[in-house]
Amino acid sequence: MSATQELRGLSAALDAAVDICARCGFCKTGCPTYPFGGGFETFSPRAKVHFLREFAMGREALTPEWSDRFFRCTTCERCETVCQTDIPLIRLWESMRERLVRQGLGPLPAQKRMMENAAAFGNPYGESPSTQTRWMLPEHAPVEGTDILVFGGCTASYRMPAMLQKGVTILTRLGIPFSYAGGEEHCCGSPLLRTGQVEGATGLIGRNLDLFARRKARTIVTPCGGCSKTLKKDYPVHAKSLGKPFDVEVLHVSELYVRLLREGRLVPSGRVERVVTFHDPCHVGRSQGLFEEPRELLGAIPGLRLTEMQRSRTESRCCGAGGGVKAGYPEMAAAIALDRLQEAVDTGADTLVTMCPFCQGSFSQAIRESGAKIALAGLEDLLFESLWPARAA
Ligand code: SF4
Ligand code: SF4
Repeated sequence: MSATQELRGLSAALDAAVDICARCGFCKTGCPTYPFGGGFETFSPRAKVHFLREFAMGREALTPEWSDRFFRCTTCERCETVCQTDIPLIRLWESMRERLVRQGLGPLPAQKRMMENAAAFGNPYGESPSTQTRWMLPEHAPVEGTDILVFGGCTASYRMPAMLQKGVTILTRLGIPFSYAGGEEHCCGSPLLRTGQVEGATGLIGRNLDLFARRKARTIVTPCGGCSKTLKKDYPVHAKSLGKPFDVEVLHVSELYVRLLREGRLVPSGRVERVVTFHDPCHVGRSQGLFEEPRELLGAIPGLRLTEMQRSRTESRCCGAGGGVKAGYPEMAAAIALDRLQEAVDTGADTLVTMCPFCQGSFSQAIRESGAKIALAGLEDLLFESLWPARAA
């Protein structure tokens, strides 16, 4: 029997994974939160894996300090990407957070508030659901009888409505029929799943699954990295355990745009004279493997030149917002965003482009606070500018 099989709450496969760590430390190299631990090894992913083994052997106990280490993680997946032994590190971190929550050693107060807000209002921000549709324009009238459902997501709907508005305007003008469940859409559950609050997430997921079934959705499109990852990877598992159907194709909106581009239905013809650099959102890039799609779209825009940051695609640096870190450790999240912003500035690009409302929020704050001379744009902004130059404003 594996020495780690006492690691209750983790599956046997995850238990075994703890045993195979080679202690190489590669996972430390790209971890965005490790440098904020003052050089102490206990802040590294490697140390956390080692702790899990020691804990399983009964030689370590769960403490508030270890809880802090496990919650100081943006779930950016960089460690898992570089790990030579293929340990499912994200599942380890999330399983451990779940256990810490069960034992009363988590989540952080701000993360707990997200759960309370989601339970009371259906979104982690505590906003009235009646404002979920405020981004909609008259031209966005949803269509009855379509099986394409736009899932705005809480961050885009309540914090970045302009991003959602522009993205949906593109779909509308290209004649893509969609329905929208504004006011009925609940948080996808991502912020709660990433912070170990699985029970709270399950209720939200169940309500959304019922909504998708009522709407007869066969394709769900969302502009959010966190929502698209959660809908693709977590919903099938939860739907099965809840006994609810989920026979749905989930698309990050960039996947739909690139599909339309290849079909010749999205034709960016207006020149956009900009030098841009692209930030791969962790939960779109590393989580979903969508690295080339945004670059194909940017490459199709006449006049636009892409210059890559030192770390891009699988090596991309996190914006600092994921895994509940922006709520739980806002100063660290802001510093991580500044670090990534500097990489963007160093390319000499005039515009930093991304395609996730969390990343947009992080960089918007970083630019505001640092005064960096770089513009921020969503992928949809540049597409819109090229598709309808005269109406871009
Ligand atoms: S997921 Fe990202 S932040 Fe978390 S331990 Fe791995 S590299 Fe560090
Ligand atoms: S990269 Fe993988 S094998 Fe190496 S120390 Fe980190 S978890 Fe262990």
